[in-house]
Amino acid sequence: MKYALVTGGSRGIGRSICLQLASMGFPVVINYNSNRTAAEETLKAIEEAGGHGELLPFDVSDSKSVDAALDGWSERHPDDYIDVLVNNAGIRQDTLMVFMQNEQWDQVMGTNLNGFFYTTRRLLKDMLTHRHGRIINMTSLSGLKGLPGQANYAASKAAIIGATKALAQEVGARKVTVNAVAPGFINTDMTQGIDEATHKTLIPLGRFGKPEEVAALVGFLASEQAAYITGETISVNGGLY
Ligand code: NAP
Repeated sequence: MKYALVTGGSRGIGRSICLQLASMGFPVVINYNSNRTAAEETLKAIEEAGGHGELLPFDVSDSKSVDAALDGWSERHPDDYIDVLVNNAGIRQDTLMVFMQNEQWDQVMGTNLNGFFYTTRRLLKDMLTHRHGRIINMTSLSGLKGLPGQANYAASKAAIIGATKALAQEVGARKVTVNAVAPGFINTDMTQGIDEATHKTLIPLGRFGKPEEVAALVGFLASEQAAYITGETISVNGGLY
């Protein structure tokens, strides 16, 4: 069986992506870090819609945790492999660089960038062996244009775009595609402290986006219809640049 793995599938955009991929017939491996209750809600929503899923907690920023969880999954699923990987887990710790502590830099890089590397490296070999795969990386408007107070976050997300382009060229011959999705402001826990009323005046479509509007693009990139798209970064941002 071909599975899909969504890192940070417990909440927000990741939860919507889990539901989208499950509706396309993929059994979904729902990763989360610490919020088991939220991850169980994602699984319940998948099952209520007639899909299949399972929980797989690990900390994407810890390579040993990533390898141990995915080795365990492979042992429990000798006949299955993960065909679709969505590197969605992410955090932000905003502050002006002049005040930024080493930990704020390292933690954001650890989750957003190292997490992509550890998880993708572990799952690539299976995709290359099966000569098929989809890797979809969650970047951000901040990684494209930079936003003040987000030097750490913007650097991590810009790096994801560079890695997406490089990896796409490494693995294209084996029919593995690698793309990035760049949301603008999307209503989730991550944007809870951001005032929509103030910011929406800057957005041509006049509102924040919904997680399912990001998930729809991820679903398309995971589908066979997107077989000839690779190395791209596609924005879902209501026209805000
Ligand atoms: P969110 O609601 O804050 O959810 C974050 C998710 O990431 C949770 O499932 C969380 O798991 C997981 N996570 C965090 N650290 C992790 C770790 N070390 N290991 C494994 N999982 C971890 O965020 P969101 O708004 O849905 O954002 C999802 C992605 O989209 C992120 O990469 C974010 O940077 C990007 N993005 C979001 C926006 C936006 O406006 N919301 C805009 C641009 C880009 P737990 O539940 O266990 O904590």
